[in-house]
Amino acid sequence: MENIIVIGGGLMGTSVTWKLAEQGEKVVLLEQQSESYDNGSSYGAARISRSLGPKKDIFSFVHNRTVKEVGKLIEFLNTETTTKNHAMEDVYSTSPVSYLYKKDQYDAIRKLRYKKQRYDYRRASGNSAFRKFGVTLKEDEILVREYKTHSGTINPSALLEKLRLGINKKGGQVKFNTKVVKLVKKEGVFEIEVLNGKTNKKTTIKAKKVVVAAGPYTVSVLKDFAPYFNRIITPKRVLLAYYKIADERFQQLSELEIKSIFAAQPMFSQIGKEYFSMVERVEDNGSPIIKAGGHQIRRNILDLDKVWDLAPRKKELKWIKKKFRKYMEMLEIFLKKKEIELVDAYNCVYSETRTKVPLVTHIKNQFGALDRDIVVIGGMSGVGAKGCLGYGVIGANLITGNAGESSKIYKRAVRKFGSPGNRLWTKRPRRGRLF
Ligand SMILES: Cc1cc2nc3c(=O)[nH]c(=O)nc-3n(C[C@H](O)[C@H](O)[C@H](O)COP(=O)(O)OP(=O)(O)OC[C@H]3O[C@@H](n4cnc5c(N)ncnc54)[C@H](O)[C@@H]3O)c2cc1C
Repeated sequence: MENIIVIGGGLMGTSVTWKLAEQGEKVVLLEQQSESYDNGSSYGAARISRSLGPKKDIFSFVHNRTVKEVGKLIEFLNTETTTKNHAMEDVYSTSPVSYLYKKDQYDAIRKLRYKKQRYDYRRASGNSAFRKFGVTLKEDEILVREYKTHSGTINPSALLEKLRLGINKKGGQVKFNTKVVKLVKKEGVFEIEVLNGKTNKKTTIKAKKVVVAAGPYTVSVLKDFAPYFNRIITPKRVLLAYYKIADERFQQLSELEIKSIFAAQPMFSQIGKEYFSMVERVEDNGSPIIKAGGHQIRRNILDLDKVWDLAPRKKELKWIKKKFRKYMEMLEIFLKKKEIELVDAYNCVYSETRTKVPLVTHIKNQFGALDRDIVVIGGMSGVGAKGCLGYGVIGANLITGNAGESSKIYKRAVRKFGSPGNRLWTKRPRRGRLF
């Protein structure tokens, strides 16, 4: 019998497995994909990593904690090799992070100003934004720019590779091509039926404890143990498009203009459909490939297995391209439509909870009884990657029964990411119904 099984090898499952292995726990991670991670919310080389938030912000906490944990992981990996070739820069690209607001969102901006964070950002309105940041704003807009080491982008694919390496070196196991098809608990023991993607054979693994971190597939993994989870987590499709400035036009840009493009990435608009963009990679000629999308352009998904290969919708692509062009115009760089080239586009998946706050929590079984031998890490929505090891720390403490940390912010995070039961029934549950 296994001690702890983690289901799902995206950023969340791999982070919690690493934390458990680091603590000396016997842990096995099951991942349905092969070693090359192609279909999942954590696919790709860039996600915005940002620390800015109001006082006691749990999302700033998980981000800052992730930075610290990545540092520890790198240190460990370097002690294990003579070449010492692991660096923070493999995972993080530090750059200013721009947030665009409307003036009527001033309350949210005001909350950013507190003593500890005072020097981490600057802000400007229509009058001063061009002078301060080289960005032309409308009268009713405000730009906030965060400057902090390791804020910028985080590279999921590089981090996954390092976490897997760490897990192996600490004696943990990662089993690829292993799809969980059934999860039940009998007489206090979890029975996990798995399908081997290579041999097509089914086997059953027994385990004392289980962590479910299957991203958008969390609901289907829990269909027997906690069938009510389809009311807690909903997968949503989000289109990602990669654009570049056509080579001929890029060559015409001055050094100052190119510098300004890089300085203005990543960008996260808090307005409307929440346009975002960031540098995914840089071509040999110095031209950035910019990943862009709209956080709030979310669609329901009929067939989760098909969504990864679904053709991008023209209407969504058009919206992203228009926003891309407009943002360049705000930098006083004017591009014709044909000077913006689509490099790639694919559908990615958010898994979101009703409240949009992620879950890292013990859950109730199908009979409504809380089970402390199971933890779910899911519903990460758009704030997962930057905080993956923060969520991993909490998940590892919950599953091992460790009291966790004594800081107020840690406790607040555990509370806020906890208890799906309470979130499902924000008011009194109907009499006689437990779930
Ligand atoms: C378009 C988009 C933009 C985003 N932007 C940002 C951003 O800027 N900043 C940020 O911090 N976050 C961002 N995120 C969020 C972040 O990428 C996700 O929250 C995070 O990657 C989720 O990781 P996960 O491990 O929960 O899910 P996944 O990466 O999907 O991992 C789940 C894993 O479980 C495996 N699995 C599923 N079912 C089974 C099964 N039955 N058996 C075995 N294995 C199984 C899957 O193959 C997968 O590998 C964005 C997400 C999207 C979609």
